[in-house]
Amino acid sequence: LTTFTDEARIAFDTLSGRTAGLFFPSIRLGVTGLSRAGKTVFITAFVHNLIHGGRLPLFEAQKSGRIARAFLEEQPDDAVPRFQYEDHVATLVGQRLWPQSTRAVSELRLTIEYESASGWNRMFAAGRLAVDIVDYPGEWLLDLPLLGKSFTDFSREAFDLARLPVRADLSQAWRELNATVAPDDDADEMTARRLAESFAAYLLACKHDDRALSTLPPGRFLMPGDLEGSPALTFAPLSDLDGRRARPGSLHAMMERRYDAYKTHVVKPFFREHIARLDRQIVLIDAMQALNAGPAALADLERAVTEILACFRPGRGNFLTDLVSRRIDRILIAATKADHLHHESHDRLQAIVRRIADRAIARANFTGATVDVAAMAAVRATREGTVKQDGETLPVIIGMPLAGERIGTQTFDGNTETAIFPGDLPEDVRTVFAENADPENGATDSALRFVRFRPPKLERTAEGVTLSLPHIRLDRALQFLIGDRLA
Ligand code: GDP
Repeated sequence: LTTFTDEARIAFDTLSGRTAGLFFPSIRLGVTGLSRAGKTVFITAFVHNLIHGGRLPLFEAQKSGRIARAFLEEQPDDAVPRFQYEDHVATLVGQRLWPQSTRAVSELRLTIEYESASGWNRMFAAGRLAVDIVDYPGEWLLDLPLLGKSFTDFSREAFDLARLPVRADLSQAWRELNATVAPDDDADEMTARRLAESFAAYLLACKHDDRALSTLPPGRFLMPGDLEGSPALTFAPLSDLDGRRARPGSLHAMMERRYDAYKTHVVKPFFREHIARLDRQIVLIDAMQALNAGPAALADLERAVTEILACFRPGRGNFLTDLVSRRIDRILIAATKADHLHHESHDRLQAIVRRIADRAIARANFTGATVDVAAMAAVRATREGTVKQDGETLPVIIGMPLAGERIGTQTFDGNTETAIFPGDLPEDVRTVFAENADPENGATDSALRFVRFRPPKLERTAEGVTLSLPHIRLDRALQFLIGDRLA
């Protein structure tokens, strides 16, 4: 449970910034998503565009010229690593390479000085908002439901999922190893380690397989952070527990104790120190990758989004409720990398995200916070054009594929600009989901052509001013996430 001091600190954080006793409002914005979803790129582009006065027509405060300046300040939490913004900008803008992805939790404070739109507020408010951006792996968030699950529940669910056709071959080696032990065997460190390693290898294989499966807990098996190699991660689910009590000294008892320790010492503190203090949240999803992989991957993504939403708005009587001191009131579920599609498909991508979100909301029995969806590119690496082929004019995207990317027999060197016909998303987006998909056809009809591009070269104006990072609909995301706090 949250202690009194925690509560006091949280209340204080809410009320104040940390600068020299000045009181001004702050907002904590969580940025999450499974690995490679685009968190690092999003935060870097978010901050870069605000600091450098980017083109943000849908971000009202910026559009109406009310933002005086935005700058980085010392973050409020000394014990949390800082988000390495400067390094990421240097990589993105200087080298035109993608920055190092998120591997653990980190934080950054961006302070915005603005003029309030209303005369009343102008008189009373400081016109300063500190945005504390908290970046953390979605894998860790997916651990929260474990808090409500016993080792027996966790084991049963892990085996049920592992036996699904889409995962069965990937989990086979681990399940076979598991079949060689019985829960009532004597506890043995080496057995525990072999099982844990084999289980972790299966979870990793799901992540890296072309089927683009979303993650299963425990999240630290995939993103260990500072727990790499620690005994807290040396456990695995066991089959055939049948609700039996573990015999002291048995493998069952050993695994159960470690599972409970993982919840107490890893999951709970993470939730209390980071998640429970958030005001707003953006969840990034790689919908494009799932679309490419087919309906089973989309269903899997939907399952992950459902679990994520359930973590943010624990309902009455939910085990998480006791741990929450603030409530998240806005959540944005955003598909990034829309710059891989022609703009005609952006609304379709958004409609797909909308459908995933709507069904997740219904299934997670989620109420309270306002949820919006977006299809965007935090950094736009392509521009659009057309090519004529057989008398037909086709819309294309033009960019510089990363070195080593391939289309057909062509391998790119990282310095060649290329036009690609990316493929369309279907007009009727329902057809990409399992229940409407053509069973003969695993992937969507219009398999997308997907290569990774190098980040863009920054343009200069006639006056020689370098513009900030280009994007698609990043301004809409900003408006939803913090716009109302700058009114
Ligand atoms: P993280 O693991 O969530 O921090 O993911 P990153 O932000 O590191 O993004 C993973 C990869 O996705 C990057 O290296 C890029 O290749 C790609 N990516 C992320 N955001 C964008 C975007 O807005 N546009 C494009 N074209 N690629 C992106």
